[in-house]
Amino acid sequence: MKKDRLSASAIGKLKKRMARFPSLPLIHKPTPVQKMNRLTGLFGGPDIWMKREDLTGLAFGGNKSRKMEYILADILGQKADTVITWASLQSNWCLQMSAAARMFGIEPILVLFKTYDLPEEPDGNLLLDRLLGAEVHIKEAGRGKTVSLETGLSHLEAAAYEARKKGRRPYLVPVGGSMPAGSMSQPLGALAYVQALIELAEQMGALGLQIGAVVHATGSGGTQAGLVVGAKALGLETRIIGISVSEEKTSLARIVLDICRRTEETLGLGTVVNPEDVIVLDDYLGQGYGIVDRNVARIVAEVFRAEGVVLDPVYTAKAMVGLQDLAHKRFFRPGKPVVFFHTGGTPALFPNRRKLLELL
Ligand SMILES: *Cc1c(COP(=O)(O)O)cnc(C)c1O
Repeated sequence: MKKDRLSASAIGKLKKRMARFPSLPLIHKPTPVQKMNRLTGLFGGPDIWMKREDLTGLAFGGNKSRKMEYILADILGQKADTVITWASLQSNWCLQMSAAARMFGIEPILVLFKTYDLPEEPDGNLLLDRLLGAEVHIKEAGRGKTVSLETGLSHLEAAAYEARKKGRRPYLVPVGGSMPAGSMSQPLGALAYVQALIELAEQMGALGLQIGAVVHATGSGGTQAGLVVGAKALGLETRIIGISVSEEKTSLARIVLDICRRTEETLGLGTVVNPEDVIVLDDYLGQGYGIVDRNVARIVAEVFRAEGVVLDPVYTAKAMVGLQDLAHKRFFRPGKPVVFFHTGGTPALFPNRRKLLELL
């Protein structure tokens, strides 16, 4: 039986399972959850709350820094001295990985794909990668596309080969830390978001509120998988709605479900996430990954002016366009708060400065 009220015993049980996985205290936790009164008014209801994962405190914040707590613990556990990962040129993931790695004397190597037409000049996350002294390899890729797991891993293997020749011990981690692959044998990124879901459930529970839905940007799938598995384990009716910023919904939902299953297996909770628990919407992609359009520019300005909260142009802006549209379409159950996860990514505003101002 599903229920709305938060069960203390379900929380206790899940927390006990989570405690089996080593993590490092890298971020300010719990991140704040705030009611967005002006946004609620602008969107015409339901009550909109924001979980401020942009305020984690590590290198401009974001969902990737929460994942880093588990992933860095694994890297240290495997006694690696180098971490190699890939993503797109202005990746938040790669910045967070490099910053966290540096704190523990681990060398970051990044394979960055040019998936949209941004210059290679040091700006936004790429500037920060350079300041951290990450070894950066830039590769070409199709506009508005993402790089497949196979392609990405093959590039990591090539970089690992070179690193090993120099006597280094590399740890290979796939984009977003979502899919267990490379040197990461467990879905550690998703585990971090099981933990985030517990955190949110406790925060809202303490206010006597039941969460109707969670809305967030979904890319490599680990964040959504963690939230879905967490909600399931706590027996919550909360719908987790992932707004895709890169993939078509059927293929992304399949990836999320796969990570969900692996996360459930890893936690050993005996729950089973169903395909219908994984809600991925791809209506707000625009022209594809990282491509800034008029809706993105508009919502960034609107939310900033209304709430003083800065969204990013690649992830949270598209998710917020989705939330606004869903609110207008009366998609949400009335009377229950909707929690928007601000997953960070704001440094990517700056390399997109011209586009944003042109479109406003
Ligand atoms: C990576 C990222 C996401 C998506 O998280 P996944 O776990 O990869 O799905 C959302 N927002 C921002 C700002 C991100 O950097």
